[in-house]
Amino acid sequence: MKINCLSCGHIIVLDDAYSDYEGSVKCYTCSALLEIKLSEGLVKSVKFLELTRIAAAEI
Ligand SMILES: [Zn+2]
Repeated sequence: MKINCLSCGHIIVLDDAYSDYEGSVKCYTCSALLEIKLSEGLVKSVKFLELTRIAAAEI
């Protein structure tokens, strides 16, 4: 299961535990918060919840 981060385009890899999942995941690259809905291993929706300050603020 892979989804694209809507903020930075990075591919977020989710393991099989997420094949039926509804909730938020955090992009570990840019720290954006995405709300995802997965059903039977398919991505039903990906919404952008929150953008947090990325690299620039952390370096
Ligand atoms: Zn990202």
